[in-house]
Amino acid sequence: MGTETTGARDLGAVVLGLEGFELVAVDEHDGELELAVQTTADLTGCLVCGAVAEAHGRRPVRVRDLPVAGRPTSLIWIKRLWRCRYEACEMGTWSETSPEIAPRASLTARAAREACRRVGQGGESVAAVAWDLGLGWGTVMRAVAEHGAPLVDDPARLEGVAALGVDETAYLAATSTHGTEFATGLVDLTRTDGPARLLDVVPGRSGTVLSSWLRGRDAGWRAGVRVAALDPFRGYATALRTHLPGAVRVLDAFHVVKLGFDAVDQVRRRVQQETLGHRGRAGDPLYGIRRVLRRGHDHHSDLSWTRLLHGLDLGDPDGEVAAAWIAAQELRLLYRHTDPTRAAAAFYRWLTFCADSEVPELQRLARTLDSWRDELLARFTAADVSNGPTEAINLLIKKVKRVGHGFRNFANYRLRLLLHCGTVWDAPATTMLRGHLHAS
Ligand SMILES: [Zn+2]
Repeated sequence: MGTETTGARDLGAVVLGLEGFELVAVDEHDGELELAVQTTADLTGCLVCGAVAEAHGRRPVRVRDLPVAGRPTSLIWIKRLWRCRYEACEMGTWSETSPEIAPRASLTARAAREACRRVGQGGESVAAVAWDLGLGWGTVMRAVAEHGAPLVDDPARLEGVAALGVDETAYLAATSTHGTEFATGLVDLTRTDGPARLLDVVPGRSGTVLSSWLRGRDAGWRAGVRVAALDPFRGYATALRTHLPGAVRVLDAFHVVKLGFDAVDQVRRRVQQETLGHRGRAGDPLYGIRRVLRRGHDHHSDLSWTRLLHGLDLGDPDGEVAAAWIAAQELRLLYRHTDPTRAAAAFYRWLTFCADSEVPELQRLARTLDSWRDELLARFTAADVSNGPTEAINLLIKKVKRVGHGFRNFANYRLRLLLHCGTVWDAPATTMLRGHLHAS
C-alpha cells in the first residue's frame, strides 16, 4: 500500500475530485448521498482594494453532482461570505465563486458536461440520464443544449468535405395527427475508412432547402466538394448542379437498391389484391413471404428458399412478383461491378428486362432510373463513394429517434442528431486504473 501518508481529509478530497474543494461531511437520505463541501481557500483579498477580506459567515448552496457509487448525489456547498474590512470600499460583501458551480446553477459544471456527453455521444435518453443524476428532464436538456451547442456550432466541424451526401430523412414518423415531416440530411462521405459524419439536418425536403444550405458555405468550401451523392430526387440534383458545379453527382446506391425492393412490395400488394380481393393477411401466400421477398438472394437458407418458391407458386399466377424480385436482385448485383463498361452493359440489360416485363411497376422504375442514367453510372467511374456510410448514418438517426420517442422540437432533434452522429468527442474523462493502490 502506498497511501499511508494520505490523511482522512485528503481521502475525502480524492473521492470528491473537485479542484479546490474538500469534503466536510457525508450523509444519506432515501438512497441519495449528500456531500457537504467547502473550498480550501480560507484567505482572500478584496476584488476592489486588495485588502485581506474578513469572513462574514456562510451560506449553504445545494447542487446536483455526478452520481457517487451509483447513487444520485448532491453537494451542499458551505459557501463563504466575505466582507471588505474598509467601510469606504465599494465592494461591501460578496460570496465566493467557483467555475465548477456557477451562481444559481442547479448542477455542477462536470455533471452538466457528463449529462451532455451521455445524451450526445452515448445517445442515451434525456429521461434516463435525468433519472441517474436525480434531475428533471428540462434541467438535463438545458445542460445538453448549453454544452452541446458550441460543439455543433464549431465551424471546424464542416471543414475538409470532399464527398458530400444529401439524403432525405423522415424527421417525424407519421401519426394520426400529423403526416411525416421530412428533413434534409447532409453527410460527409469523404472518409471511406471510418464512420461518416452528419454535417447538418435542415427541415424540409426540397431543392430550395438544399440551395440555401449550400449558399451558406463559402466559395472555398463549395470548391472542395468533388463528389456529391444524392437520392433520386430532382430538387436535390438541380440545387447541386447550381451550387456545386464542379462536383460529380452520383446516385446513392443504397437508395437505388431500396427502390428495387420497394417495387417488389408494390407488385406484391397489387397481385395480392387482384388474386384474392383483399389486403394481405395471415395465411395468404404472398403475405407470408413479404419479408423473405426483401432479402438478398445470397442471404437465404434452404428453408427460406423453399418458402419463397412455395409462396410464389401459390400466390403469383402470372409471375409478376417473381419478375419484380429478379429485377430487385439484379439491381443489387449491379453494384458488384467494378468495370464501368460492364456496369453500363448490365444496367442496359436491366432496363430491357423491366421494359419487356409487362409489369407496370417495373416499367415505371426503369423509366425513373433511365432518367438518372448519368448519375447512376457515375458511381462506377467518378470516385470511390461507398454506400456504407449513408446506411450507417441512417441507422444512427433511427436510434436517436427511437431513444427520443419522437421529437416535437426540431432544434432539439437537430442538436441530438449532430451530437450523436456529427461531433468528434474527446475521450471520456474516466479515471484509469493506475497509480498507487495494488491488491496484494
Ligand atoms: Zn475593499
